[in-house]
Amino acid sequence: MTDLDKDIKDLRVLISEEEIQKKLKTLASEIEKVFTVDEDIYVICVLKGSVMFCADLVKHFNHSVQMEFIRISSYGNEQKSSNNLQAIDLTLPNLHEKNVLIVEDIIDTGLTARFLTDLFKIKHHPKKLAFVTLLNKKCARQIEIEPDFYGFEIDDKFVVGYGLDYKGYYRNLPYIGYFPS
Ligand code: 5GP
Repeated sequence: MTDLDKDIKDLRVLISEEEIQKKLKTLASEIEKVFTVDEDIYVICVLKGSVMFCADLVKHFNHSVQMEFIRISSYGNEQKSSNNLQAIDLTLPNLHEKNVLIVEDIIDTGLTARFLTDLFKIKHHPKKLAFVTLLNKKCARQIEIEPDFYGFEIDDKFVVGYGLDYKGYYRNLPYIGYFPS
């Protein structure tokens, strides 16, 4: 038994496991085209939310890949972006003149994407920087920013699954779901 106020039986599928897995292949080949063929890609997995997406996406890359992990929190336990970013761990190697791909789960207000993009440009001076997010909530944007690549555009609803949580739960679901209001 969990202490959740939401029950998994009420969860509706928004994007199926099959749709996600199919999308990853096309996304990976699009992304690879922007990087020079025989150079490493430094893939930056933004924890915790992008753990599933990032792990599955890199399996489709033909480039040699280095994986790095950073951790940021912006939602806390709520269903609304707090506008209050918490950088929990930003430890990274030297990425100067490297090919960098930031992998996010979802862009909502745009605050996290802006913070990360600025951080990498200003602090790391990569040779090439690209940003991919699985989900793009364009209609919720408070800051003008667009990813270089995204998997699916979704409405302004709170989603869970495939890495995305509600109060720490549901990250393990292989699909993206939502609780109808
Ligand atoms: P932003 O800074 O763009 O407002 O939010 C980015 C972060 O908020 C995401 O990386 C994600 O962790 C969280 N987030 C935004 N929308 C959702 C959502 O619908 N569901 C969940 N579980 N997390 C979300």
